[in-house]
Amino acid sequence: MCLMRTLIQECVAGIPPLVEAAARQEGQNPRDFARAVARGHVVIPANPMRPHRISAIGNGCRVKVNVNVGTSGERCDPALEKEKAQAAITNGTDTLMDLSTGGDLEIVRKIVLSFDIPVGTVPVYEAVRRAGNAIDLSADLLFTVIREHCRQGVDFLTLHCGVNREALASLKSDPRILPVVSRGGAFHVAWMEHSGEENPLFSEFDYLLEILAEHEVVASLGDGMRPGCLQDADRHAKTVEYLNLGRLSNRALEEGVQRMVEGPGHIPFDQIGYNVRMIKELTNDAPLYLLGPLVTDIAPGYDHLVAAIGGVEACRHGADFLCMVSPSEHLALPLVGDIIEGTRAAKISAHIGDLIRGMDGFKMPRERQMADARRRLDWKEQFALSLFPDAARSIHARDGELDTCSMCGDLCAVKMMQEIFRTKK
Ligand code: SF4
Repeated sequence: MCLMRTLIQECVAGIPPLVEAAARQEGQNPRDFARAVARGHVVIPANPMRPHRISAIGNGCRVKVNVNVGTSGERCDPALEKEKAQAAITNGTDTLMDLSTGGDLEIVRKIVLSFDIPVGTVPVYEAVRRAGNAIDLSADLLFTVIREHCRQGVDFLTLHCGVNREALASLKSDPRILPVVSRGGAFHVAWMEHSGEENPLFSEFDYLLEILAEHEVVASLGDGMRPGCLQDADRHAKTVEYLNLGRLSNRALEEGVQRMVEGPGHIPFDQIGYNVRMIKELTNDAPLYLLGPLVTDIAPGYDHLVAAIGGVEACRHGADFLCMVSPSEHLALPLVGDIIEGTRAAKISAHIGDLIRGMDGFKMPRERQMADARRRLDWKEQFALSLFPDAARSIHARDGELDTCSMCGDLCAVKMMQEIFRTKK
């Protein structure tokens, strides 16, 4: 058992420097912020093995964005993954996850860990790779890989602890069109079905917590039973997993281990609110990390927009952390262009989330400044205030340098109003 105090335990006693810095970054009172960390309402993924920029996630923080990179068996190019990670950072991601499953996993992980932001992984991917397949996985191997990732400086780990035998039974008693679409969830289901045993991440959860506490790594309690299509959203397996995650989340907090919760996949728009509120309630307001939610299944090629729409609604009800969905979701491994588009869509969603939770200053100063710049037809200022100035600048420039834009040209309503009100004055 580790004798060092965890960040949560330090926050019970005072205000650790890391928490003070994170509070200042989020514009919060450090004392209140330390209390929020101690209560598990905020997490700060910051493995002491690898100092990097801080990104606090949860109540009172700006909505954060994660971007997934990583190889597959079909496309394995570490240089491409490095370029994708850089593109994600340039476009404003707060964290990266390395989801590699192809080639030399350690090389790609080292590349991703070389960037100056928090990094997450899904250890079961590597454990299955080493075992050869999911059914030959052993608990020892899985825990060994988890330890290795912690020692290498990974800041948060997706761990599908809620995919237990009870969740598996509910999958059988209340079948879904797409039984499991989470890769990690599928590995655990395959292993449980074959071995007849319980998921070790569930049955040996306290041992898992010891490892995480020792390395100050955040548990991201994975949504292995997330629905894979709208029709599956109200089937039982997802809710059984939520209940499991609620119990495990509280147990982690008792042991002083930082944790957040993942959810909820493909969900009809009108069901997002109660799903988000249910997870928050069951997990005692743990920070919520979402992929999507995807609110339609028939827009492949544009799933970044589908997720952005779902993400805004989720933020309205309390989501804290959005995972980028790229245009190639459900179709192929993303390339650099997909990462740029996906990251930008997620950033827009997160920004709207910040406006909803009043994190842009209650009077929305940047939005107000943009309105003024538009009234003055001040293009330079408009570009400077844009979330993505390069896109705004290049679209405006494509019909030449005009004082209006080429949409209405001489018939520009803004210009007309400028002249009318100037004349009246
Ligand atoms: S030209 Fe039309 S679209 Fe462009 S700024 Fe003026 S009113 Fe707006």
